[in-house]
Amino acid sequence: MIDALLEKEIFTIEDLVLLLKAEGPDMERLFKKSMTVKEEQVQNKVYFRGLIEFSNICRKDCLYCGIRKSNAKVRRYDISDEAILRSAEFAYENHFGSVVLQSGEQKSPSFTKRITKLLDEINTLSDSKLRVTLSCGEQSKETYREWYEHGAARYLLRIETSDRDLYSKLHPQDKSHDFDERLQCLNDLRDLGYQTGSGVMIGLPFQTYESMAGDLLWMKSMDLDMVGMGPYLEHENTPLYAYRHLLMPQQKRFELALKMIACLRILMKDINIAAATALQSVDKLGREKAVKIGANVIMPNITPGEFRDDYHLYNNKPCTDENPEDCKTCLEMRIGLADNKIAYDEWGDSMHFRKRGMSAEMNLENKS
Ligand code: SAM
Ligand code: SF4
Repeated sequence: MIDALLEKEIFTIEDLVLLLKAEGPDMERLFKKSMTVKEEQVQNKVYFRGLIEFSNICRKDCLYCGIRKSNAKVRRYDISDEAILRSAEFAYENHFGSVVLQSGEQKSPSFTKRITKLLDEINTLSDSKLRVTLSCGEQSKETYREWYEHGAARYLLRIETSDRDLYSKLHPQDKSHDFDERLQCLNDLRDLGYQTGSGVMIGLPFQTYESMAGDLLWMKSMDLDMVGMGPYLEHENTPLYAYRHLLMPQQKRFELALKMIACLRILMKDINIAAATALQSVDKLGREKAVKIGANVIMPNITPGEFRDDYHLYNNKPCTDENPEDCKTCLEMRIGLADNKIAYDEWGDSMHFRKRGMSAEMNLENKS
């Protein structure tokens, strides 16, 4: 039965629920199919994005996140511009091709200007050779435009779940945590020309298989260029921890995350899919396993070591005591084990985004 399902071109919620519930030999068939699609569409290449978690200061209070505003136990930090630029330089010198600047959400004009200046400086230090992805939460369209004009090419903003009811259980009920606002931000990013990335958490309390299947169809309907998704992992100093009795075991959440990645690769063949760091918290080879069955982006953490422990989103966040050099060497070896090759010195733009650009150009030509 699963073989026939895997040959379909259009999937319903019911089809996807069946795939997400696949176990044993059926799960292996799903993975075999997604591996074939990956090889045919994006080849067995992995792009590195050096991840710089430059600040854990956040104005928001998402109920699942360890660095939420109300967690008074967090030591807040904001890495200096010089240290951020040194990390970017490390990425450039090590041929990563790309960096991600990620932080808690801040909206002050000084924050906006600071990012703009950093974008200019990263362009200068790399002779515009380093692609920058931003992941700094919800911002106004004007702010997104300013950053785009200063060289930010990609933006990651996970919707967390496309299920409105579930979204409302995971966030405080106020204007700062509004589902429609987040959706609007994703539309603004796409309008402005960003390669737009989103994603979800997998195995959340109250989340159903139907809801996760809905996430997959939502990603397709949003025509995203990039997706990053991984297991939800509990953190004891967050309100959602009270519902940990509803969670499936971490290993099951991990397996479900792999199945979500495999289904997504089959559904959205030419996008970039990141192997989330959270996968590695559950299984030391988690990201490599994801690469094998469909992911094609890995984000080695190149945040200066002394700050790593304070970007503590969930329990057992990995690699907090490694330095960037170690991280790179061990990843290189493990990607090789997953029969993939690291593409150094390449921007690794989403193939989907490039095709999207070409078809827009063709439409314009046909109209003129
Ligand atoms: N503040 C920005 C935002 O929320 O878009 C970017 C930084 S935020 C820490 C990055 C991602 O971490 C979130 O989109 C969320 O999916 C993930 N995250 C937060 N808490 C998590 C948890 N307990 N388990 C797994 N992922 C988590
Ligand atoms: Fe802040 Fe992002 Fe964590 Fe929400 S997920 S509390 S916005 S850092």
